[in-house]
Amino acid sequence: MTTVMIIEDEEALGLLLKYNLEKEGYQVIWETSGNKAMSSVEKHCPSVILLDWMLPELSGIEICKMIRNKPDIKDIPIIMLTAKGEEEDKIKGLTAGADDYVTKPFSVPELMARIKTNLRRAPELLPEKEYVFEDIRMDLVERKVFRGNNYIHLGPTEFRLLKMLMETPGKVFSREFLLKNVWGNNIFVESRTVDVHIRRLRKSLNEYGPDYIRTVRATGYAIDNNIQQENE
Ligand code: CA
Repeated sequence: MTTVMIIEDEEALGLLLKYNLEKEGYQVIWETSGNKAMSSVEKHCPSVILLDWMLPELSGIEICKMIRNKPDIKDIPIIMLTAKGEEEDKIKGLTAGADDYVTKPFSVPELMARIKTNLRRAPELLPEKEYVFEDIRMDLVERKVFRGNNYIHLGPTEFRLLKMLMETPGKVFSREFLLKNVWGNNIFVESRTVDVHIRRLRKSLNEYGPDYIRTVRATGYAIDNNIQQENE
């Protein structure tokens, strides 16, 4: 799940952001002070940071520079939030290493769009361009799945399910884990739903080759070529 960190001392704005981001399915960590923020960034390594300019203790600019100087967190996209609209301030923010800049007051949809753009740009979130398991190839950039030379059409849920399985072949994922990570925290679905989508996924994939999705009784699913199939 994608984690967004908010570093913002204004309570009303922080709450508004948190509410809207969670509604979009992001996991949110909200810090209100500069000092606390640095250790929290290192601890959680969020996918994107919304960073206020004016903060108590450390300023947003200082935090931005500090993040950019720490090798393990330096690539996290940073969107500066600020009341300052001056061109000069914008340049200062971008020079300090911010990826983007949003001036308050901003509209929530605009900020959401900026977040998505910056997530796409983040190199560490696309460590691989494709997953391959036996003859199944998942193109993560084009979001397409092939088996041999055959294109496999998958619905969005089946695609996310397969992606999760193919990320770690052999690992058994529980239904609960899949529900949480494929459907998201906020949506109420029964664990039986996972079975329904696994069935659809199998149907599409197995048209061109053997069944590599393993059902682990009372537990969940894995993708592997273990010949001791327990599949129904
Ligand atoms: Ca502030």
